[in-house]
Amino acid sequence: VSRLSPALEAELRAALGDDGLSLDEHDLAHYGTDRCRGGWPVAPAAVARPRNVTAVQAVVRACARAAVPIVPSGGRTGLAGGATATAGELVLSLERMRRILEVDAIAGWLRCEAGATVQAVRDAAAAVELLYPIDFASKGSAQIGGSIATNAGGVNVLRYGMTRQWVMGLRVVLASGEILDVGGPLVKNNTGYDLRQLFVGSEGTLGVVVEAVLALTRPPAGRIVALAGTSDEAAIVRLFARVRASGLVCSAFECFDAASVRHVLAHRGQTGRGPLAAAAQHVLVEFELAHEDQGEAALERLTDLFAAAETDGDVADVAVARTPAQQTALWAWREEISESLHGRDPHKADVALPISVVPDFVRRWRAALEEHLPEVEAVCFGHIGDGNLHLNLLRPAAWPLDRFVARCAEFDESVYALVEELGGSISAEHGIGLLKRAHVHHTRSAVDLEVMRRVKHALDPSGLFNPGKLFPPPPPRVPGA
Ligand SMILES: Cc1cc2nc3c(=O)[nH]c(=O)nc-3n(C[C@H](O)[C@H](O)[C@H](O)COP(=O)(O)OP(=O)(O)OC[C@H]3O[C@@H](n4cnc5c(N)ncnc54)[C@H](O)[C@@H]3O)c2cc1C
Repeated sequence: VSRLSPALEAELRAALGDDGLSLDEHDLAHYGTDRCRGGWPVAPAAVARPRNVTAVQAVVRACARAAVPIVPSGGRTGLAGGATATAGELVLSLERMRRILEVDAIAGWLRCEAGATVQAVRDAAAAVELLYPIDFASKGSAQIGGSIATNAGGVNVLRYGMTRQWVMGLRVVLASGEILDVGGPLVKNNTGYDLRQLFVGSEGTLGVVVEAVLALTRPPAGRIVALAGTSDEAAIVRLFARVRASGLVCSAFECFDAASVRHVLAHRGQTGRGPLAAAAQHVLVEFELAHEDQGEAALERLTDLFAAAETDGDVADVAVARTPAQQTALWAWREEISESLHGRDPHKADVALPISVVPDFVRRWRAALEEHLPEVEAVCFGHIGDGNLHLNLLRPAAWPLDRFVARCAEFDESVYALVEELGGSISAEHGIGLLKRAHVHHTRSAVDLEVMRRVKHALDPSGLFNPGKLFPPPPPRVPGA
Protein backbone atom coordinates (compact mmCIF):
# COMPACT_ATOMS: atom_id res chain seq x y z
CA VAL A 1 0.00 0.00 0.00
CA SER A 2 1.40 3.43 -0.96
CA ARG A 3 1.79 6.00 1.75
CA LEU A 4 1.89 9.77 1.51
CA SER A 5 5.31 11.29 2.10
CA PRO A 6 5.52 13.18 5.43
CA ALA A 7 5.97 16.45 3.51
CA LEU A 8 2.83 15.92 1.40
CA GLU A 9 0.84 14.80 4.42
CA ALA A 10 1.82 17.96 6.31
CA GLU A 11 0.94 20.15 3.32
CA LEU A 12 -2.47 18.49 2.92
CA ARG A 13 -3.23 18.78 6.64
CA ALA A 14 -2.40 22.46 6.53
CA ALA A 15 -4.80 22.95 3.59
CA LEU A 16 -7.64 20.73 4.84
CA GLY A 17 -7.45 20.90 8.62
CA ASP A 18 -6.88 17.73 10.64
CA ASP A 19 -10.37 16.34 10.08
CA GLY A 20 -10.17 16.96 6.32
CA LEU A 21 -7.51 14.29 5.66
CA SER A 22 -7.86 10.66 6.64
CA LEU A 23 -5.38 7.80 6.45
CA ASP A 24 -7.60 5.55 8.53
CA GLU A 25 -7.97 2.02 7.11
CA HIS A 26 -11.73 2.00 7.45
CA ASP A 27 -12.00 5.32 5.57
CA LEU A 28 -9.61 4.10 2.86
CA ALA A 29 -11.78 1.02 2.28
CA HIS A 30 -15.03 3.03 2.46
CA TYR A 31 -14.05 5.91 0.17
CA GLY A 32 -11.81 3.83 -2.10
CA THR A 33 -14.57 2.20 -4.11
CA ASP A 34 -17.93 2.75 -5.76
CA ARG A 35 -20.81 0.30 -6.28
CA CYS A 36 -19.11 -1.68 -9.03
CA ARG A 37 -17.75 -5.09 -7.99
CA GLY A 38 -14.93 -5.57 -10.47
CA GLY A 39 -12.52 -7.45 -8.20
CA TRP A 40 -9.91 -4.63 -8.33
CA PRO A 41 -7.74 -3.87 -5.32
CA VAL A 42 -9.07 -1.02 -3.17
CA ALA A 43 -5.91 0.80 -2.16
CA PRO A 44 -6.01 4.60 -1.89
CA ALA A 45 -3.22 6.31 0.04
CA ALA A 46 -5.49 8.90 1.64
CA VAL A 47 -8.93 10.51 1.61
CA ALA A 48 -9.26 14.31 1.37
CA ARG A 49 -12.55 15.99 2.21
CA PRO A 50 -12.19 19.72 1.49
CA ARG A 51 -14.76 22.26 2.60
CA ASN A 52 -14.20 24.86 -0.12
CA VAL A 53 -12.76 25.54 -3.56
CA THR A 54 -9.52 27.02 -2.21
CA ALA A 55 -8.83 23.78 -0.34
CA VAL A 56 -9.54 21.75 -3.51
CA GLN A 57 -7.01 23.90 -5.38
CA ALA A 58 -4.41 23.41 -2.64
CA VAL A 59 -4.91 19.61 -2.70
CA VAL A 60 -4.62 19.49 -6.49
CA ARG A 61 -1.44 21.61 -6.50
CA ALA A 62 0.18 19.59 -3.70
CA CYS A 63 -0.65 16.25 -5.33
CA ALA A 64 0.55 17.48 -8.73
CA ARG A 65 3.92 18.50 -7.24
CA ALA A 66 4.25 15.15 -5.44
CA ALA A 67 3.00 13.17 -8.46
CA VAL A 68 0.25 11.51 -6.40
CA PRO A 69 -2.79 10.88 -8.64
CA ILE A 70 -6.27 11.99 -7.61
CA VAL A 71 -9.57 10.11 -7.85
CA PRO A 72 -12.42 12.67 -7.77
CA SER A 73 -15.19 11.10 -5.73
CA GLY A 74 -18.89 11.85 -5.35
CA GLY A 75 -21.56 9.63 -3.80
CA ARG A 76 -19.69 6.51 -5.01
CA THR A 77 -22.87 5.07 -6.48
CA GLY A 78 -21.14 4.69 -9.86
CA LEU A 79 -21.51 1.33 -11.59
CA ALA A 80 -18.35 1.30 -13.72
CA GLY A 81 -15.51 1.53 -11.18
CA GLY A 82 -14.81 5.19 -12.07
CA ALA A 83 -14.51 6.27 -8.44
CA THR A 84 -12.34 3.31 -7.43
CA ALA A 85 -8.77 3.93 -6.16
CA THR A 86 -6.62 0.89 -6.86
CA ALA A 87 -3.00 2.02 -6.50
CA GLY A 88 -2.13 4.63 -3.88
CA GLU A 89 -4.19 7.54 -5.25
CA LEU A 90 -5.66 10.30 -3.13
CA VAL A 91 -9.46 10.13 -3.07
CA LEU A 92 -10.85 13.67 -3.28
CA SER A 93 -14.35 13.50 -1.84
CA LEU A 94 -16.71 16.42 -2.46
CA GLU A 95 -19.13 15.35 0.27
CA ARG A 96 -18.50 18.39 2.49
CA MET A 97 -19.14 20.84 -0.37
CA ARG A 98 -22.89 20.43 -0.67
CA ARG A 99 -24.45 23.87 -0.37
CA ILE A 100 -27.20 25.16 -2.63
CA LEU A 101 -25.73 28.60 -3.34
CA GLU A 102 -28.38 30.44 -5.33
CA VAL A 103 -31.82 29.79 -6.84
CA ASP A 104 -33.34 31.99 -9.55
CA ALA A 105 -36.98 30.94 -9.75
CA ILE A 106 -37.82 33.48 -12.46
CA ALA A 107 -35.11 32.50 -14.92
CA GLY A 108 -35.28 28.85 -13.80
CA TRP A 109 -31.82 27.81 -12.65
CA LEU A 110 -29.88 27.07 -9.48
CA ARG A 111 -26.22 27.11 -8.54
CA CYS A 112 -24.83 24.55 -6.13
CA GLU A 113 -21.62 22.99 -4.89
CA ALA A 114 -20.71 19.70 -6.57
CA GLY A 115 -21.24 17.61 -3.43
CA ALA A 116 -24.97 18.42 -3.20
CA THR A 117 -26.94 15.25 -3.85
CA VAL A 118 -29.23 15.02 -6.86
CA GLN A 119 -32.12 14.67 -4.38
CA ALA A 120 -31.08 17.86 -2.55
CA VAL A 121 -31.12 19.72 -5.87
CA ARG A 122 -34.54 18.31 -6.71
CA ASP A 123 -35.79 19.40 -3.27
CA ALA A 124 -34.37 22.90 -3.69
CA ALA A 125 -36.10 23.19 -7.06
CA ALA A 126 -39.38 21.86 -5.63
CA ALA A 127 -39.22 24.49 -2.87
CA VAL A 128 -39.74 27.17 -5.56
CA GLU A 129 -42.24 25.02 -7.47
CA LEU A 130 -39.74 24.02 -10.14
CA LEU A 131 -38.29 20.70 -11.22
CA TYR A 132 -34.76 19.41 -11.73
CA PRO A 133 -35.85 16.51 -13.91
CA ILE A 134 -32.90 14.13 -13.61
CA ASP A 135 -34.20 11.21 -11.59
CA PHE A 136 -32.68 7.82 -10.79
CA ALA A 137 -32.86 5.30 -7.98
CA SER A 138 -29.56 6.36 -6.33
CA LYS A 139 -30.42 10.09 -6.33
CA GLY A 140 -30.34 10.27 -2.52
CA SER A 141 -26.59 9.49 -2.50
CA ALA A 142 -25.35 10.40 -5.99
CA GLN A 143 -23.92 13.90 -6.12
CA ILE A 144 -24.35 16.58 -8.76
CA GLY A 145 -20.58 16.43 -9.48
CA GLY A 146 -20.72 12.66 -9.98
CA SER A 147 -23.88 12.86 -12.06
CA ILE A 148 -22.23 15.47 -14.30
CA ALA A 149 -18.99 13.46 -14.56
CA THR A 150 -21.04 10.42 -15.66
CA ASN A 151 -23.69 12.34 -17.63
CA ALA A 152 -26.31 10.39 -15.67
CA GLY A 153 -29.56 9.42 -17.38
CA GLY A 154 -32.31 7.77 -15.35
CA VAL A 155 -36.01 7.17 -15.70
CA ASN A 156 -37.17 10.35 -17.45
CA VAL A 157 -34.62 10.63 -20.28
CA LEU A 158 -37.38 9.99 -22.80
CA ARG A 159 -38.95 13.31 -21.84
CA TYR A 160 -36.08 15.40 -20.45
CA GLY A 161 -32.82 14.02 -21.86
CA MET A 162 -29.64 13.30 -19.92
CA THR A 163 -27.81 15.43 -17.34
CA ARG A 164 -25.87 17.10 -20.18
CA GLN A 165 -28.99 18.99 -21.24
CA TRP A 166 -29.44 20.61 -17.81
CA VAL A 167 -25.89 21.80 -17.17
CA MET A 168 -25.70 25.53 -17.90
CA GLY A 169 -22.41 26.29 -16.24
CA LEU A 170 -19.53 24.65 -14.39
CA ARG A 171 -16.70 25.69 -12.12
CA VAL A 172 -13.83 23.23 -12.46
CA VAL A 173 -10.44 22.96 -10.72
CA LEU A 174 -7.91 22.01 -13.39
CA ALA A 175 -4.76 19.90 -12.96
CA SER A 176 -2.77 23.16 -12.79
CA GLY A 177 -4.85 24.23 -9.79
CA GLU A 178 -6.46 27.02 -11.84
CA ILE A 179 -10.20 27.61 -11.74
CA LEU A 180 -12.06 27.30 -15.04
CA ASP A 181 -15.53 28.87 -15.17
CA VAL A 182 -17.47 27.72 -18.23
CA GLY A 183 -20.99 28.74 -19.17
CA GLY A 184 -23.38 30.08 -16.57
CA PRO A 185 -26.96 31.25 -16.25
CA LEU A 186 -27.06 33.03 -19.63
CA VAL A 187 -29.33 31.26 -22.09
CA LYS A 188 -27.51 32.78 -25.08
CA ASN A 189 -23.72 32.98 -25.19
CA ASN A 190 -22.13 32.09 -28.53
CA THR A 191 -18.50 32.91 -27.91
CA GLY A 192 -16.55 29.92 -29.11
CA TYR A 193 -15.97 26.32 -28.02
CA ASP A 194 -18.44 24.87 -25.52
CA LEU A 195 -15.83 23.67 -23.01
CA ARG A 196 -18.55 22.96 -20.45
CA GLN A 197 -19.73 19.88 -22.35
CA LEU A 198 -16.19 18.44 -22.34
CA PHE A 199 -16.49 17.89 -18.61
CA VAL A 200 -19.94 16.30 -18.78
CA GLY A 201 -19.28 12.57 -19.04
CA SER A 202 -15.51 12.99 -18.52
CA GLU A 203 -15.57 10.60 -15.52
CA GLY A 204 -13.18 12.64 -13.40
CA THR A 205 -10.37 12.48 -15.96
CA LEU A 206 -10.19 16.19 -16.91
CA GLY A 207 -10.73 18.17 -13.72
CA VAL A 208 -12.65 18.39 -10.45
CA VAL A 209 -16.14 19.84 -10.82
CA VAL A 210 -16.66 22.04 -7.76
CA GLU A 211 -19.81 23.99 -8.69
CA ALA A 212 -22.60 23.79 -11.24
CA VAL A 213 -25.38 25.98 -12.60
CA LEU A 214 -28.33 23.74 -13.48
CA ALA A 215 -31.42 24.56 -15.50
CA LEU A 216 -34.84 23.95 -13.93
CA THR A 217 -38.24 23.53 -15.52
CA ARG A 218 -41.90 23.61 -14.54
CA PRO A 219 -43.13 20.36 -12.99
CA PRO A 220 -46.12 18.64 -14.60
CA ALA A 221 -49.54 19.24 -13.02
CA GLY A 222 -50.09 15.53 -12.59
CA ARG A 223 -49.00 12.06 -13.65
CA ILE A 224 -50.52 8.76 -14.67
CA VAL A 225 -48.56 5.61 -13.86
CA ALA A 226 -49.47 2.17 -15.19
CA LEU A 227 -47.88 -1.27 -15.19
CA ALA A 228 -48.55 -3.71 -18.02
CA GLY A 229 -47.68 -7.39 -18.30
CA THR A 230 -46.37 -8.52 -21.68
CA SER A 231 -44.84 -11.65 -23.17
CA ASP A 232 -41.56 -10.47 -24.66
CA GLU A 233 -39.51 -7.55 -25.97
CA ALA A 234 -41.18 -7.60 -29.38
CA ALA A 235 -44.56 -6.96 -27.69
CA ILE A 236 -42.94 -4.21 -25.61
CA VAL A 237 -41.64 -2.44 -28.71
CA ARG A 238 -45.07 -2.64 -30.35
CA LEU A 239 -46.61 -1.16 -27.18
CA PHE A 240 -44.02 1.63 -27.29
CA ALA A 241 -45.07 2.45 -30.86
CA ARG A 242 -48.69 2.75 -29.69
CA VAL A 243 -47.69 5.02 -26.82
CA ARG A 244 -45.67 7.24 -29.16
CA ALA A 245 -48.60 7.52 -31.55
CA SER A 246 -51.14 8.24 -28.79
CA GLY A 247 -50.33 11.93 -28.37
CA LEU A 248 -49.99 11.38 -24.60
CA VAL A 249 -46.86 12.91 -23.06
CA CYS A 250 -44.86 9.86 -22.05
CA SER A 251 -42.15 10.60 -19.46
CA ALA A 252 -40.99 7.05 -18.67
CA PHE A 253 -41.18 3.71 -20.45
CA GLU A 254 -39.34 1.12 -18.38
CA CYS A 255 -39.16 -2.67 -18.50
CA PHE A 256 -38.27 -5.48 -16.10
CA ASP A 257 -38.44 -9.24 -16.37
CA ALA A 258 -39.95 -11.88 -14.07
CA ALA A 259 -36.54 -12.51 -12.45
CA SER A 260 -36.42 -8.83 -11.39
CA VAL A 261 -39.73 -9.28 -9.57
CA ARG A 262 -38.49 -12.44 -7.83
CA HIS A 263 -35.43 -10.62 -6.51
CA VAL A 264 -37.38 -7.58 -5.31
CA LEU A 265 -39.80 -9.90 -3.46
CA ALA A 266 -36.90 -11.80 -1.86
CA HIS A 267 -35.14 -8.55 -0.88
CA ARG A 268 -38.34 -7.31 0.77
CA GLY A 269 -38.66 -10.62 2.60
CA GLN A 270 -42.02 -11.20 0.92
CA THR A 271 -43.22 -14.56 -0.30
CA GLY A 272 -46.31 -13.46 -2.25
CA ARG A 273 -46.55 -12.89 -5.97
CA GLY A 274 -45.53 -9.87 -7.97
CA PRO A 275 -47.69 -6.95 -9.05
CA LEU A 276 -49.07 -8.81 -12.08
CA ALA A 277 -49.61 -12.55 -11.97
CA ALA A 278 -47.24 -14.61 -14.13
CA ALA A 279 -46.12 -11.84 -16.49
CA ALA A 280 -42.87 -12.70 -18.27
CA GLN A 281 -42.15 -9.02 -18.90
CA HIS A 282 -43.38 -5.84 -17.26
CA VAL A 283 -43.65 -2.35 -18.71
CA LEU A 284 -43.90 0.58 -16.35
CA VAL A 285 -45.17 3.62 -18.16
CA GLU A 286 -45.63 7.15 -16.89
CA PHE A 287 -47.46 10.04 -18.55
CA GLU A 288 -47.45 13.71 -17.65
CA LEU A 289 -50.46 16.00 -17.50
CA ALA A 290 -49.99 19.67 -18.32
CA HIS A 291 -53.21 20.53 -16.44
CA GLU A 292 -54.94 18.62 -13.66
CA ASP A 293 -58.27 18.61 -15.50
CA GLN A 294 -56.70 16.56 -18.33
CA GLY A 295 -56.64 13.48 -16.09
CA GLU A 296 -59.95 11.91 -17.09
CA ALA A 297 -59.45 12.38 -20.83
CA ALA A 298 -55.90 11.02 -20.65
CA LEU A 299 -57.04 8.00 -18.65
CA GLU A 300 -59.71 7.29 -21.22
CA ARG A 301 -57.20 7.45 -24.04
CA LEU A 302 -54.86 5.16 -22.11
CA THR A 303 -57.62 2.65 -21.44
CA ASP A 304 -58.37 2.51 -25.18
CA LEU A 305 -54.68 2.09 -25.94
CA PHE A 306 -54.29 -0.86 -23.56
CA ALA A 307 -57.57 -2.42 -24.77
CA ALA A 308 -56.32 -2.37 -28.38
CA ALA A 309 -52.95 -3.82 -27.28
CA GLU A 310 -54.77 -6.55 -25.35
CA THR A 311 -56.90 -7.43 -28.38
CA ASP A 312 -53.74 -7.80 -30.47
CA GLY A 313 -52.16 -10.01 -27.81
CA ASP A 314 -49.40 -7.56 -26.84
CA VAL A 315 -50.61 -6.94 -23.30
CA ALA A 316 -51.98 -9.53 -20.88
CA ASP A 317 -52.69 -7.59 -17.73
CA VAL A 318 -52.67 -3.91 -16.70
CA ALA A 319 -52.66 -2.06 -13.36
CA VAL A 320 -53.28 1.69 -13.36
CA ALA A 321 -52.40 3.60 -10.18
CA ARG A 322 -55.35 5.60 -8.82
CA THR A 323 -53.52 7.50 -6.07
CA PRO A 324 -50.03 8.95 -5.53
CA ALA A 325 -49.36 6.14 -3.03
CA GLN A 326 -50.26 3.56 -5.67
CA GLN A 327 -47.98 5.32 -8.16
CA THR A 328 -45.10 5.12 -5.69
CA ALA A 329 -45.87 1.44 -5.07
CA LEU A 330 -45.78 0.64 -8.80
CA TRP A 331 -42.53 2.57 -9.26
CA ALA A 332 -41.01 0.71 -6.28
CA TRP A 333 -41.00 -2.56 -8.28
CA ARG A 334 -38.71 -0.93 -10.81
CA GLU A 335 -36.62 1.22 -8.47
CA GLU A 336 -35.77 -1.55 -5.99
CA ILE A 337 -34.34 -3.97 -8.56
CA SER A 338 -30.73 -2.73 -8.47
CA GLU A 339 -30.58 -2.77 -4.69
CA SER A 340 -32.14 -6.25 -4.52
CA LEU A 341 -29.33 -7.66 -6.70
CA HIS A 342 -26.43 -5.96 -4.94
CA GLY A 343 -25.70 -8.85 -2.57
CA ARG A 344 -25.09 -11.15 -5.57
CA ASP A 345 -22.13 -9.08 -6.92
CA PRO A 346 -23.99 -8.38 -10.18
CA HIS A 347 -21.87 -8.01 -13.29
CA LYS A 348 -23.57 -5.27 -15.27
CA ALA A 349 -23.73 -4.44 -18.92
CA ASP A 350 -25.53 -1.16 -19.58
CA VAL A 351 -26.14 -1.16 -23.31
CA ALA A 352 -27.97 1.17 -25.69
CA LEU A 353 -29.49 -0.01 -28.94
CA PRO A 354 -31.84 1.37 -31.56
CA ILE A 355 -35.16 0.32 -30.01
CA SER A 356 -36.25 -1.58 -33.12
CA VAL A 357 -33.40 -4.11 -32.72
CA VAL A 358 -33.87 -4.67 -28.97
CA PRO A 359 -35.92 -7.88 -29.44
CA ASP A 360 -33.28 -9.36 -31.76
CA PHE A 361 -30.51 -8.34 -29.36
CA VAL A 362 -32.18 -9.87 -26.30
CA ARG A 363 -32.91 -13.12 -28.13
CA ARG A 364 -29.27 -13.48 -29.22
CA TRP A 365 -27.95 -12.40 -25.80
CA ARG A 366 -30.06 -15.02 -24.00
CA ALA A 367 -28.97 -17.72 -26.48
CA ALA A 368 -25.29 -16.81 -25.95
CA LEU A 369 -25.76 -16.94 -22.18
CA GLU A 370 -27.35 -20.36 -22.39
CA GLU A 371 -24.38 -21.56 -24.43
CA HIS A 372 -21.45 -19.94 -22.57
CA LEU A 373 -22.62 -19.29 -19.00
CA PRO A 374 -25.48 -21.73 -18.31
CA GLU A 375 -24.71 -21.69 -14.54
CA VAL A 376 -25.25 -17.93 -14.28
CA GLU A 377 -28.62 -16.34 -13.51
CA ALA A 378 -29.43 -13.27 -15.61
CA VAL A 379 -31.75 -10.37 -14.83
CA CYS A 380 -32.77 -7.85 -17.48
CA PHE A 381 -34.42 -4.50 -16.87
CA GLY A 382 -33.96 -0.95 -18.03
CA HIS A 383 -35.07 2.20 -19.74
CA ILE A 384 -36.34 0.39 -22.81
CA GLY A 385 -38.04 3.50 -24.23
CA ASP A 386 -34.49 4.87 -24.68
CA GLY A 387 -33.27 1.52 -26.09
CA ASN A 388 -31.27 1.13 -22.84
CA LEU A 389 -31.08 -2.28 -21.16
CA HIS A 390 -29.32 -3.16 -17.90
CA LEU A 391 -28.14 -6.75 -18.22
CA ASN A 392 -27.17 -8.22 -14.86
CA LEU A 393 -25.33 -11.50 -14.38
CA LEU A 394 -25.46 -12.83 -10.81
CA ARG A 395 -22.56 -14.65 -9.20
CA PRO A 396 -23.37 -18.31 -8.50
CA ALA A 397 -22.99 -18.90 -4.76
CA ALA A 398 -20.25 -21.50 -5.28
CA TRP A 399 -18.07 -19.28 -7.49
CA PRO A 400 -15.41 -17.02 -5.98
CA LEU A 401 -15.59 -13.40 -7.17
CA ASP A 402 -12.34 -13.71 -9.22
CA ARG A 403 -13.65 -16.61 -11.27
CA PHE A 404 -17.01 -14.94 -11.79
CA VAL A 405 -15.43 -11.66 -12.92
CA ALA A 406 -13.05 -13.44 -15.32
CA ARG A 407 -15.84 -15.51 -16.92
CA CYS A 408 -18.09 -12.43 -17.27
CA ALA A 409 -15.26 -10.41 -18.84
CA GLU A 410 -14.83 -13.09 -21.52
CA PHE A 411 -18.57 -13.11 -22.12
CA ASP A 412 -18.70 -9.29 -22.32
CA GLU A 413 -16.49 -9.30 -25.39
CA SER A 414 -19.10 -11.27 -27.37
CA VAL A 415 -21.97 -9.16 -26.01
CA TYR A 416 -20.24 -5.92 -26.96
CA ALA A 417 -19.37 -7.25 -30.42
CA LEU A 418 -23.10 -7.93 -30.87
CA VAL A 419 -23.93 -4.43 -29.62
CA GLU A 420 -21.51 -2.99 -32.19
CA GLU A 421 -22.98 -5.15 -34.98
CA LEU A 422 -26.47 -3.84 -34.15
CA GLY A 423 -25.37 -0.19 -34.06
CA GLY A 424 -25.54 0.27 -30.28
CA SER A 425 -23.32 1.62 -27.51
CA ILE A 426 -21.49 -0.40 -24.84
CA SER A 427 -22.42 2.19 -22.23
CA ALA A 428 -25.76 3.94 -22.29
CA GLU A 429 -25.45 5.88 -19.05
CA HIS A 430 -23.06 4.33 -16.50
CA GLY A 431 -19.85 5.32 -18.29
CA ILE A 432 -16.67 3.35 -18.94
CA GLY A 433 -14.61 3.63 -15.73
CA LEU A 434 -12.42 0.59 -15.18
CA LEU A 435 -15.15 -1.87 -16.06
CA LYS A 436 -15.43 -1.28 -19.79
CA ARG A 437 -12.18 0.38 -20.79
CA ALA A 438 -10.97 -2.73 -22.63
CA HIS A 439 -14.17 -2.71 -24.72
CA VAL A 440 -14.52 0.98 -25.55
CA HIS A 441 -13.26 0.39 -29.12
CA HIS A 442 -16.62 -1.26 -29.88
CA THR A 443 -18.28 2.15 -29.67
CA ARG A 444 -15.54 4.76 -30.20
CA SER A 445 -13.31 4.72 -33.30
CA ALA A 446 -9.51 4.88 -33.21
CA VAL A 447 -9.65 8.51 -34.38
CA ASP A 448 -12.23 9.30 -31.74
CA LEU A 449 -10.04 7.83 -29.00
CA GLU A 450 -6.96 9.63 -30.28
CA VAL A 451 -8.75 13.01 -30.18
CA MET A 452 -9.94 12.20 -26.65
CA ARG A 453 -6.31 11.41 -25.66
CA ARG A 454 -5.17 14.77 -27.07
CA VAL A 455 -7.86 16.59 -25.08
CA LYS A 456 -6.82 14.71 -21.95
CA HIS A 457 -3.17 15.59 -22.58
CA ALA A 458 -3.98 19.26 -23.16
CA LEU A 459 -5.86 19.58 -19.86
CA ASP A 460 -4.00 17.08 -17.70
CA PRO A 461 -0.56 16.48 -19.25
CA SER A 462 0.87 14.57 -16.30
CA GLY A 463 -2.16 12.27 -15.92
CA LEU A 464 -3.06 13.53 -12.44
CA PHE A 465 -6.80 12.85 -12.57
CA ASN A 466 -8.22 9.33 -12.47
CA PRO A 467 -5.42 7.46 -14.27
CA GLY A 468 -6.41 4.13 -15.81
CA LYS A 469 -10.06 5.07 -16.22
CA LEU A 470 -12.03 5.53 -19.43
CA PHE A 471 -9.16 4.98 -21.90
CA PRO A 472 -8.30 1.48 -23.17
CA PRO A 473 -5.45 -0.15 -21.24
CA PRO A 474 -2.08 -0.31 -23.03
CA PRO A 475 -1.63 -3.57 -24.98
CA PRO A 476 0.14 -6.35 -23.01
CA ARG A 477 3.92 -6.40 -23.46
CA VAL A 478 5.14 -9.15 -25.73
CA PRO A 479 8.13 -10.93 -24.08
CA GLY A 480 11.32 -10.38 -26.09
CA ALA A 481 9.73 -7.78 -28.38
C1 LIG B 1 -29.37 1.70 -7.31
C2 LIG B 1 -28.68 2.45 -8.40
C3 LIG B 1 -29.40 2.94 -9.46
C4 LIG B 1 -28.78 3.67 -10.47
N1 LIG B 1 -29.54 4.13 -11.51
C5 LIG B 1 -28.95 4.88 -12.48
C6 LIG B 1 -29.72 5.37 -13.57
O1 LIG B 1 -30.92 5.10 -13.69
N2 LIG B 1 -29.09 6.15 -14.49
C7 LIG B 1 -27.76 6.44 -14.40
O2 LIG B 1 -27.24 7.15 -15.26
N3 LIG B 1 -27.00 5.96 -13.39
C8 LIG B 1 -27.56 5.18 -12.44
N4 LIG B 1 -26.79 4.69 -11.42
C9 LIG B 1 -25.34 4.94 -11.41
C10 LIG B 1 -24.87 6.16 -10.58
O3 LIG B 1 -25.79 6.45 -9.55
C11 LIG B 1 -24.66 7.37 -11.46
O4 LIG B 1 -23.62 7.10 -12.38
C12 LIG B 1 -24.31 8.65 -10.69
O5 LIG B 1 -24.33 9.73 -11.59
C13 LIG B 1 -22.96 8.62 -10.00
O6 LIG B 1 -22.85 9.73 -9.12
P1 LIG B 1 -21.90 9.68 -7.84
O7 LIG B 1 -21.90 11.01 -7.19
O8 LIG B 1 -22.23 8.52 -6.98
O9 LIG B 1 -20.49 9.46 -8.56
P2 LIG B 1 -19.28 8.50 -8.16
O10 LIG B 1 -19.67 7.08 -8.24
O11 LIG B 1 -18.68 8.97 -6.88
O12 LIG B 1 -18.27 8.85 -9.34
C14 LIG B 1 -18.60 8.55 -10.68
C15 LIG B 1 -17.52 9.14 -11.60
O13 LIG B 1 -17.55 10.57 -11.52
C16 LIG B 1 -16.29 11.09 -11.09
N5 LIG B 1 -16.61 12.21 -10.19
C17 LIG B 1 -17.37 12.19 -9.07
N6 LIG B 1 -17.49 13.43 -8.56
C18 LIG B 1 -16.77 14.26 -9.38
C19 LIG B 1 -16.49 15.66 -9.38
N7 LIG B 1 -16.99 16.48 -8.44
N8 LIG B 1 -15.71 16.15 -10.35
C20 LIG B 1 -15.20 15.34 -11.32
N9 LIG B 1 -15.42 14.03 -11.37
C21 LIG B 1 -16.21 13.48 -10.41
C22 LIG B 1 -15.60 9.92 -10.42
O14 LIG B 1 -14.18 10.06 -10.50
C23 LIG B 1 -16.11 8.74 -11.22
O15 LIG B 1 -15.36 8.59 -12.40
C24 LIG B 1 -27.38 3.92 -10.41
C25 LIG B 1 -26.65 3.43 -9.33
C26 LIG B 1 -27.26 2.69 -8.34
C27 LIG B 1 -26.44 2.19 -7.19
